[in-house]
Amino acid sequence: MVANRSLTPLQGKTLYIPRICQGSTLLLCAAFKALGIDARPTPPSDARTREIAARHCSGEECYPQIITLGNFLKVTEEPGFKPEQTALLMVTASGPCRFGQYQQLFRRTLDRIGLEEVEILSPSCENGYRGLEDIGAAAFRYGWWAIVAGDQLSKMLHRIRPYESVAGETDAVYQQCITSAAEVIARPDRRGRDKFTDLQACLNSCREKFNAIDADYSNERLLIGIAGEIFCRLNTFSNDDFVRKVEQFGGEVWVSDVCEWLFYCNFWEMEELRCFDSSFSLRRLKAWLSDWIQKREEHQLHAPFGDALSGLDEPPAAELVALGGRYIDPHAAMGENLLSLGKAVWLHRKRADGMADISPFSCMNGISAEAFYPRVSQELDGFPIRSFYFDGTQTNLDEDVGIFMELASNYAKGKQIRRSSVSFR
Ligand code: SF4
Repeated sequence: MVANRSLTPLQGKTLYIPRICQGSTLLLCAAFKALGIDARPTPPSDARTREIAARHCSGEECYPQIITLGNFLKVTEEPGFKPEQTALLMVTASGPCRFGQYQQLFRRTLDRIGLEEVEILSPSCENGYRGLEDIGAAAFRYGWWAIVAGDQLSKMLHRIRPYESVAGETDAVYQQCITSAAEVIARPDRRGRDKFTDLQACLNSCREKFNAIDADYSNERLLIGIAGEIFCRLNTFSNDDFVRKVEQFGGEVWVSDVCEWLFYCNFWEMEELRCFDSSFSLRRLKAWLSDWIQKREEHQLHAPFGDALSGLDEPPAAELVALGGRYIDPHAAMGENLLSLGKAVWLHRKRADGMADISPFSCMNGISAEAFYPRVSQELDGFPIRSFYFDGTQTNLDEDVGIFMELASNYAKGKQIRRSSVSFR
C-alpha cells in the first residue's frame, strides 16, 4: 500500500520541511514518504536565505524565523514551483516566544506575494505535535522514530569524530547511516511494527559501521555541553558550525537533542492536564500513554549505541525541569531557558568540562538564562558556562570559542572527579 487514504489534503502536493538539522530532517521527510507524501527538506541555507527573508521582515523577527522564512521563500523560486501543489510544515506553539508567530508571518508574507494557495501545516506544541489532523497517527509515529534515530546518529557523530584517525571518515559514515535509515523509514510496504524492527536492525548495522572507524581515544578531550535555543544550537548554518569549532579547539560536544524538547512538550502537556483537568480523564490517560510509548521506543532505538554513549545519558524531562526550577519558576518560564539551566546542573553532575548556550541574538530565552549563569556556575564549583549569540554577523567566534575552551581546560585541571573512560571499545 503506497498511500494512506486519509491524507487527501496533502496528496499531489510536495511538503517542505525546515532543515533544522540535516540528518533528522531527511529522516523526517522519509517518515512522510512512507505515507505516500512527497516530503523534501527546504533548500540549504546560505547568504541568500537571509537576503530574501529580509525583504519581508520588520527587524523584530528572531534569527530562526528569518532563516526559516528565507528557505521557504527559496522553495517558491525553484524551477517548476506550483503554489497549489506546495505545503510547508511549520510546527507552532503558543506563549510569549516568537515561535508562536512564525506561522502568521509566513502566511502574511505568502499572501502578500500572491501565494495564498501554498498551504502551511502547523502541528502544535500543546498536543506534543500530534495535531497533524488528516495526516494521521502514522505520521506522528514514524516521525518520532525518525527524530529518535536522527538524534542517536548525531550523538555517534559527535562522539567519534573528534577522535578519528582519518579526517572525514566519521562524517562519511554518518551520511551513509542517514541514507540507510531514510530508506528503511520511507518504505511504504513495511508498516507499523515491521518498520520499527527494520529500523532497529538498520541502527544495529550503523553501530557496526561506526565501530569500524579508526579512532584514537588516548588523548582525552574536554567534554562541552551545548544547550540553548533548539533551532540555533542544531542548525549548523545559524551557529556557524559551532560544534566543529569546539572540536577544533580540543573539545568533544554533547549537544542537547531534539527529543529533549519533545519530551519536555509531553511533560508540559501532562502538567497542564494535571493542573486544569479532572483527576482522571481520557485526555490525561492518552497523554501519559503516548509519553510512555515514546520513551520505550526511544530506549529501544538507543540500545545499539548504549555503551558508546554511556555517561552521556539525557535526563528525564521532569528532572531537567526540577533542576532548572532551582533558578526559574518552571510555570513562569516555559522554554529553553529552563531546560538550559537544568542542563547545566546535569552536565556538571556528568563530569562535563563546560557548557555553551547557543542562542539567537535578542532571544529572550537565551538572555534570561544568561542572567542566572554566574550564580549557577558559582554553585557548581566554577563550572564554565558561556552564552554565544548568533544573528549571522559574527566576526570573532574563533577567538571567543578559544577563550571559553581555555576556561574549560583550567576547570578540567582542577576537577576532583574526572569523566569515566572516554574509549568505548
Ligand atoms: S526561543 Fe527565541 S529564537 Fe527561538 S523562536 Fe523563540 S524567540 Fe525565536
